[in-house]
Amino acid sequence: MQDCLDRIATRVRPLAKRGRVADYIPALKCVDPQRFGLAVATLDGEVHQTGDSMEPFSIQSISKVFSLVLACNLVGDELWQRVGRLPSSNQFNSLVELELNQGKPRNPFVNPGALVIADLLTSRHTQMERAMVSLLRELSGNSTIDYNMEAAAGEFATAHRNKAAAYLMKSFGNFHNGVDEVVGAYCAQCAITSSCRDLAVAALFLADAGTHPITGRQVVAQQQVRQICALMMSSGTYEVSGETAFSIGLPIKSGVGGGILAVIPRFGVMCAWSPPLDDSGSSVAGLKAVELFAVKMNKTVFA
Ligand code: GLU
Repeated sequence: MQDCLDRIATRVRPLAKRGRVADYIPALKCVDPQRFGLAVATLDGEVHQTGDSMEPFSIQSISKVFSLVLACNLVGDELWQRVGRLPSSNQFNSLVELELNQGKPRNPFVNPGALVIADLLTSRHTQMERAMVSLLRELSGNSTIDYNMEAAAGEFATAHRNKAAAYLMKSFGNFHNGVDEVVGAYCAQCAITSSCRDLAVAALFLADAGTHPITGRQVVAQQQVRQICALMMSSGTYEVSGETAFSIGLPIKSGVGGGILAVIPRFGVMCAWSPPLDDSGSSVAGLKAVELFAVKMNKTVFA
């Protein structure tokens, strides 16, 4: 497998120049576009990796998978009264559908959906961002994972659309806590820094029916793994998730920090990182790396 990862890295690295590093979050625009990491963690506890796989990067929307996990644990199916499960053809920070759907976001991975989840977690945790950090530390076995305060503060200062979405949802009664408090916590969860290695290991429970194979902890119920992975497949790569399902056929979540997390059920988890993004917000080289791996190893949920 090591050979396969090294070959994929060599092949996809040049694709990074077709993308653009996110610049709407101040901390992201200074990231070196040449960075590239890949890690594959398998259910037997092995991790295969190449490039900058141990380098922490801003996980951004990949955090939405873990906040969804916390919310599923806290309130179970009640969650779906506040957030939908439908894919969206609009950008992740769009407000259009919110107005049309009476303040109910389309799914947990568009920004309004993740904000409702952050609101729900804020109602139950004094600092929900700390709960997220603890979960990632425990599941990855890396106690140094944390969020970058400067990145969080920089995003908060320019988070006008996210605040607007929160106020709009509040006007419909679907947002209960203070907007600044929740958007602040949301910016902190997005500013968590973690590496390909740590994210791949942390997410292993999604490939193993909800039980983390290394810690032995039942993180979520099997039924919730099905729900979370279905949402990753239908909405995990923004408005082009249908295209991603077509070309790769795996539950995937990307983030504007350039990370891509792909679950390969009953096998393991792959995480790629390359900062330059395509027009919809996913890492160009990262997504191609996952595609090449899935094809080469014949990994898809449809086989
Ligand atoms: N913090 C980013 C935002 O709210 C996350 C976006 C993403 O990674 O998709 O815009």
